[in-house]
Amino acid sequence: MIRHKYNGSLYAERRNCFMRKFKTESKKLLDLMINSIYTNKEIFLRELISNASDAVDKLYFKSLTDTSMGISKNDLEIDVDFDKESRTITISDTGIGMTKDELETNLGTIAHSGSLEFKTDNADAQGEDLDIIGQFGVGFYSSFMVSKRVMVISRAYGSDETWVWESDGIEGYTITEASEEQAAGIHGNHGTTIVLFLKDNTEDEEYDIFLDQYELQALIKQYSNYVRYPIRMEIETRKPLPKPEDAGDDYTPEFETVHEIQTINSMIPIWKRRKSEVTEEEYNNFYKTDFHDFSDPISTISVHAEGALSYDALLFIPSRTPYDFYSKDYEKGLALYSSNVLIQEKCSELLPDYYNFVRGVVDSQDLTLNISRETLQHNSQLRAIANKVEKKITSELGKMRDNDRETYEKFFENFGRNLKYGIYSSYGMKKDTLADLLLYYSAKNKKMVTLKEYVENMTEDQKSIFYAAGESVDRLAHRPIVTTILNKGFDVLLCPQDVDEFCLMSMSEYEEKQFKNVAGGDLGLETEDEKNAAEAITKENENLFNAMKDALDGKVKRVAVSTRLSDTPSCVTAEGPITLEMEKVLAAGPDGEQVKSDRILELNPQHPVFKALQKAFEEKDDDKVKSYARVLYDQALITEGLPIDDPVAYTQAVYKFMV
Ligand code: ADP
Ligand code: MG
Repeated sequence: MIRHKYNGSLYAERRNCFMRKFKTESKKLLDLMINSIYTNKEIFLRELISNASDAVDKLYFKSLTDTSMGISKNDLEIDVDFDKESRTITISDTGIGMTKDELETNLGTIAHSGSLEFKTDNADAQGEDLDIIGQFGVGFYSSFMVSKRVMVISRAYGSDETWVWESDGIEGYTITEASEEQAAGIHGNHGTTIVLFLKDNTEDEEYDIFLDQYELQALIKQYSNYVRYPIRMEIETRKPLPKPEDAGDDYTPEFETVHEIQTINSMIPIWKRRKSEVTEEEYNNFYKTDFHDFSDPISTISVHAEGALSYDALLFIPSRTPYDFYSKDYEKGLALYSSNVLIQEKCSELLPDYYNFVRGVVDSQDLTLNISRETLQHNSQLRAIANKVEKKITSELGKMRDNDRETYEKFFENFGRNLKYGIYSSYGMKKDTLADLLLYYSAKNKKMVTLKEYVENMTEDQKSIFYAAGESVDRLAHRPIVTTILNKGFDVLLCPQDVDEFCLMSMSEYEEKQFKNVAGGDLGLETEDEKNAAEAITKENENLFNAMKDALDGKVKRVAVSTRLSDTPSCVTAEGPITLEMEKVLAAGPDGEQVKSDRILELNPQHPVFKALQKAFEEKDDDKVKSYARVLYDQALITEGLPIDDPVAYTQAVYKFMV
């Protein structure tokens, strides 16, 4: 490789060429960059190296399918250089390069990506808190955080023209044909050289720190260690001269200063290294830069499989839900590499939907390189790896659940819904994988418990797993039916998410214990005697109940005596497969499905209201019976958090009782 030092004529500003203006969105970001009080200015190097690496990747990819290009891996590299005198840093690559048009589109406008919108919107909203800038891949423009002028010299692969893009990062940029000297700056026959003219030092900010081999070396190691191509730098070292033969015992060694080109990055991808060799910080750094998150992952899983199917995988469980997680733009998938070469950035076949939050990398030499997206889906090795990856995630989550419940609860808060949804959408088929990962709020213990823990704590005579579904844990905890069941000594799982009940219903049972909604039909809680007594009272009051049912005008299937109430006069329950909560969730769904449950109005015969009802019926006060029936029904619905049909009629009826 020939090192090329730039001389003065290269730096001459070309003032008389036509200046093109930046597009608005680019200007906005540039403005943020330049005026950023952001402290992590150093990330410019990471960004430029990552672009260089992308450009080299592109060329390498091309050469895989087009062997006539004659590209050898040895030709692919990235060089970093600096010059104290001219205060410049130069980053060169032997990548695919850019044509004049590409310089214009790629550097004149910022790709209008979702993440960019997020960046700028948030930066605007947060005013001074520009931290967000440094948290994402900020791209090429980050070079303006440290530079007063940036020059990009580029020659596209296969072209004999070299073009120079140049800008001060404020209003616009120029594109001119390269001088001979500039063109000579392109190593090999294609690629890009970026020259940064550092800003002047100010009282607060010293840009000269970057004009230092140790600093640059450290930054490359910190941020770009796993770049797959050598990042090379000329390093000045002092080497001891050989000891002369005639030197005496009092010889003091002499040194010479040598300059040599060294590869700074380790290039061994982090996922190939054993977990014991990598620090947590290195993993976290890799995760944050490669997967654009600003929080450390909650868990890092490293897998090295050898044998019939060999692969390395490095998986991360984020500590928060990605901002676009619930939008249709969110794509699941793991980066797929074959022998260190990226095949697909988000290979969705590697992850089941319910683990769509997992980020990471899978690398397997067993996959052929020129595998296409279509054939990927039918690739049996890939499917086998996906299976293993799923098992590994399941077991790691299980370990977290058992060993670090606090962290697991945080995880579950973020992604628990996904697991529940996984059970529901597989019609319960994924129960074996997922059921033990679920957590529910125990009304008895006032904390999250697993189904296993619930079952372990069941009393001997308890046959079912009781749950209550509704809008919030707080409100569920105060439901009369929940209290009644707790008083009987049984625990109730409180399920506030819309998917909860559907999930439980698709499992139907856990360890042979049926799930029972406490507001559902027969709970099997009463003794034979209690049951008989209730039936007897129902029979005795048959006429009253029929009158009430008529008053409710088809809203309920039956009025009956309850065995599950203690302090409240009435409740509404549902018989059959559709529960009240399901009815509500389905009605709120996109199609607004009008599925109705079979409602039963249950009355508490011990309650004074019941006596008053009987009295009114005996006295043939039909109006009173009617309004009692309606008010009791509506109140029961309100307690369940369900809407009532006619709030005006309800309040009128209550007023009538007041006077
Ligand atoms: P991103 O890398 O996220 O696409 P950047 O702002 O970092 O965004 O870069 C913008 C575009 O400029 C890149 O997508 C690429 O097309 C082009 N580019 C930047 N640097 C180089 C380079 N060294 N060689 C070739 N193309 C480059
Ligand atoms: Mg980039």
